[in-house]
Amino acid sequence: MKNASHGDTADTTGTVADLTRATLAVTAGRPARTQGAPVNPPVVLSSTYHSEGTPGPGEKLYTRIDTETWAPFEDAVAALESASESGVVFGSGMAAIAAVMSFVPDGGRLVVPRHAYQVTLGFADDLAARHGVTVVRVDVADTAATIAQLEGADLVWIESPTNPMLEVADLPALIDAAHAAGALVAVDNTFATPLVQRPLEAGADVVVHSVTKYLAGHSDVVLGIAVSSSAHLTSLLRAYRTLHGAIAGPWEVWLALRGLRTLALRVERAQSNAAEIARRLAAHPAVAEVRHPSLPDDPGHEVAARTMDGFGAIIGLRPHGGREAADAVVQAVHLWVPATSLGGVESSLERRRRFATESLTVPEDLVRLSVGVEDIDDLWADLDQALVRSTQTPQTSAETTPDA
Ligand SMILES: *Cc1c(COP(=O)(O)O)cnc(C)c1O
Repeated sequence: MKNASHGDTADTTGTVADLTRATLAVTAGRPARTQGAPVNPPVVLSSTYHSEGTPGPGEKLYTRIDTETWAPFEDAVAALESASESGVVFGSGMAAIAAVMSFVPDGGRLVVPRHAYQVTLGFADDLAARHGVTVVRVDVADTAATIAQLEGADLVWIESPTNPMLEVADLPALIDAAHAAGALVAVDNTFATPLVQRPLEAGADVVVHSVTKYLAGHSDVVLGIAVSSSAHLTSLLRAYRTLHGAIAGPWEVWLALRGLRTLALRVERAQSNAAEIARRLAAHPAVAEVRHPSLPDDPGHEVAARTMDGFGAIIGLRPHGGREAADAVVQAVHLWVPATSLGGVESSLERRRRFATESLTVPEDLVRLSVGVEDIDDLWADLDQALVRSTQTPQTSAETTPDA
């Protein structure tokens, strides 16, 4: 289902009603195709607008409320997510998440994945501590166990694949069950991107993204967005943004839209790199476990193959040798970037439990790899030498140390 309401493209060419997402990433949110108009939307730098008297509907007044630079990006992400309403851009992924979490009433019930972005889980804990919200943590890969916890829920929060464990949720099944239990469903689609998974098509009420990651794609902006097909929920999100001042700067939104133009190319390349690296890691003698839904024996493979259009580009890696070996891998890479965050063109990695706030059920030796768009053989050569070095005992390294 494509969106006439987001299709400057569809409206103005007349012949492109059914564009694919790879094309929409390039075309959505462009200015109208009129003679002399710019091909890209302008960046408007103004905190206020000429205005007097009673403001007309939609009239721009003040940039915390609305500004022209947001709409092209909000429309483009909505088109990619098959939303019938425009998206609502926020100053960060967490600001978008906080806005959606405001749908949980004080004393309400919130279901969250046991593994998810750690600040999302921290936010849920804060709702429990300060607003009397009952927070229930579930294993989203266990459909029956999750469904058993949905009764009385106000909001079911799903992340899939989960950060950093790569558990895959059966989104259509969980969304149907959550709606039957009377709950709203929000899906953090940051890992998958709308090219790989479209939760709104499966019936989710809201999708959020850390735009910081794949949508912007170049590790140069922090930004978030929430998208819904409900006009009511969208107006609540806009009102939240205005009340809390959780707004995005125009330059960041413009950069994100520029990054979005190459989303399909980046995701295709990153995914094919990730699948190949996962396959090679699974056969590597220094590797104890590798998680990527592309692997035929991965616990998430069946559900991912059935419900997603790809497998994403994040890999979970546990080397032999525990936490020390994991740290050694991160220290030994030259091309891969040791850093938090993910979804940039550059490949990066980190041991997640280096953060005291990471879930204690995440293994100490889990290294999360964000696979980028570099050449596969360069990526593999660097990772392979780092893994080999991680297995070398101190004695071996002493032997190779040049000395008298
Ligand atoms: C990074 C991330 C967030 C938070 O987004 P920010 O832009 O850093 O605020 C939320 N969810 C997931 C899955 C993330 O990876």
